[in-house]
Amino acid sequence: MEAFVGALLDKMTLDERIGQLNLLSVGFDVTGPIVNKDVEASIRRGLVGGVFNTYTPGPVRKLQELAVNQSRLRIPLLLGYDVIHGHKTIFPIPLALACTWNLDLIEKSARIAATEATADGLNWTFSPMVDIARDPRWGRIAEGAGEDPYLGAQIARAMVRGYQGDDLRRNNVVMACVKHFALYGAAEGGRDYNTVDMSRIRMYEYYLPPYKAAVDAGVGSVMSSFNEVDGEPATGNHWLMSELLRKQWGFQGFVVTDYTAINEMTQHGTGDLKQNVARALRAGIDMDMVGEGFRKYLKQLVAQRTVTEAMINQACKRILVAKFKLGLFADPYRGCNADRAEKEILTPENRQAAREIAERSFVLLKNSGQTLPLRKSGTIALVGPLAADQRNLLGSWSAAGDWKKSVSIAEGIKQAAPALSVLQAKGANLVDDPALLLALNAAGGDIALDKRSPQELLDEAVAAANKADTVIAVLGESFGMSGEAASRSDIGIPEGQKELLKALAGTGKPLVLVLLNGRPLTLTWEDAHCSAILETWFGGTETGNAVAAVLFGDYNPSGHLTATFPRSVGQIPLYYNHKNTGRPYTGDPRAKYLSRYLGVPNEPLYPFGYGLSYTTFSYSSVRLSKTSLDGGQALVAAVKVSNTGQYAGEETVQLYISEPVASVTRSVEDLRGFQKVTLKPGESKEVAFKITTEDLKFYNRDLVYDWEPGEFIVRIGGSSSQLKSASLRWSKPGALTKTR
Ligand code: BGC
Repeated sequence: MEAFVGALLDKMTLDERIGQLNLLSVGFDVTGPIVNKDVEASIRRGLVGGVFNTYTPGPVRKLQELAVNQSRLRIPLLLGYDVIHGHKTIFPIPLALACTWNLDLIEKSARIAATEATADGLNWTFSPMVDIARDPRWGRIAEGAGEDPYLGAQIARAMVRGYQGDDLRRNNVVMACVKHFALYGAAEGGRDYNTVDMSRIRMYEYYLPPYKAAVDAGVGSVMSSFNEVDGEPATGNHWLMSELLRKQWGFQGFVVTDYTAINEMTQHGTGDLKQNVARALRAGIDMDMVGEGFRKYLKQLVAQRTVTEAMINQACKRILVAKFKLGLFADPYRGCNADRAEKEILTPENRQAAREIAERSFVLLKNSGQTLPLRKSGTIALVGPLAADQRNLLGSWSAAGDWKKSVSIAEGIKQAAPALSVLQAKGANLVDDPALLLALNAAGGDIALDKRSPQELLDEAVAAANKADTVIAVLGESFGMSGEAASRSDIGIPEGQKELLKALAGTGKPLVLVLLNGRPLTLTWEDAHCSAILETWFGGTETGNAVAAVLFGDYNPSGHLTATFPRSVGQIPLYYNHKNTGRPYTGDPRAKYLSRYLGVPNEPLYPFGYGLSYTTFSYSSVRLSKTSLDGGQALVAAVKVSNTGQYAGEETVQLYISEPVASVTRSVEDLRGFQKVTLKPGESKEVAFKITTEDLKFYNRDLVYDWEPGEFIVRIGGSSSQLKSASLRWSKPGALTKTR
């Protein structure tokens, strides 16, 4: 590879080398202001390194043929796309995937996505998105794994493995691109693209681990983020791209900018495009997405000695190496043809996998009086603007997914329970607010208002509810209300739908709320007034079948939240691994001068790790194999988990560790492990975790990742707020003893 790439570089003109650093958008979707012109001519002239947004064998082949048959050096193109949660078989949105806590299934979803994407001619995906998000106002919380760095890191690894396999040359894997480096999820106020500012210690401890995990898993590329880091746009931040990513972490692949991120540095305030091109290249950026600043200015900047040719050669080499690793010089088409696309895309097996994963991603938030599961007979009223909807089921970033191929909830219910009488009514529009409608529809939201008045819609739904044994209200967000550039300041169910829910609650019938949405919502009223709440996110192609399976108990829900659901927007940011503060709230409502809100609890409505089942699980106390340890020893912490209910079910047993005293303040607890256990009614199993000093490590004030001796509390349970605990002491030879 070295010899091949070296020889090729020697043959390339400076223009051709700069050309490889140029990524252009051709085709269907664009997320920014520029659509690249004259792409075909540029490819022929050898001035393009890759294109994205084109898929299906015909058009992809045409572009690749231009590069390999008509350009001087016949260098193949990278062919990228945002394959985020499936290519044409769409899986649940990433936040939902995370709620499965099932790394094998998450890896499998990426594996299937890669197979379908390669059958459609692609060799590169802009995924996984691993930005930690503690603010549900931020619409892109939908695209990541939630708020926890440990789980986020595990998922990042699983996805990279799923996409890339163990050999990038295979025709059914794609190169992954971990994004958005870095800290994009910490946008102030949850407003997309907004400023980010945080201490290094917070960065290292909570935000960086998933990116690093992807790098450690061998991710081929990294995407820079839009936001600033430490007062510099990430895309021009030398510390971030070179010191941290390459020197500290040893990243060997290439870095691509986000969409026109170099151009946007001008708005950030770091000068004109030419200055920023120099700054980005010097920082360590290898490829310019869409902006064409590299192509326009790098040659001039070399002549002026602002950047060196060696810097350009370095970036070019990294991109050629990626192409070599993908086997593109041997087979630029990688076996893509119409036949393969026909055979490998949206197969019954892929749809089955999407369905199973969707079932496991749903989180049962409430189920009073065992309202769920439902019987498959009698009469239900199935109401709400999302009950019969197909358009919104795929969620944002659904790549090449065709919503017309998705199964609506109404259809899923009818197929699963043919003997059930289903009375349907829309009940309300998805969105009534004209300003919100305008924004959503301008972005392709396709929300058509029902011509009937809100009262007529409501009356029809209430009439149906009055005739039914149980009411199922399918409510939530449109797909465009989360994802990129979809921040909300009010994260409740839209007003008209809420009115509908109130009217339905007024009928006194058992009321099941099935939610579709891309972020944690504020559900305080809903929790108080609905009999059952099932969070189904955006479940993808097989949504309807998966929802029906869970509603009727054919699958017992097992999802657990990976992002906190606040009671009110004012509590945000709200996350489980917070610090204790010097004045923690004691729970006494009359206590003053403590860290709290007046009249609202500090606790969330539904915490991280929470999720109910149709059965119940009980936990024994935590047994530790040792309570006093030295240096490099290890211990085993075990609990007995029992199924104490009527249904077979799966529990996610979570391990958290707390360190009450340390040289820097620590979170009240940190997730350090989890295991899934399946239990029949009455069955018990022992679940054991091995704990080593690796699990105790954190970043100290010198940003050294190490552990300190002292007391540790091991907590195990089915949710971050319901844990059994036991404590131990761990000493370290030569270290000072800490006291409590
Ligand atoms: C998004 C990226 C995406 C890129 C290419 C940007 O607007 O931030 O996540 O990969 O567009 O479509």
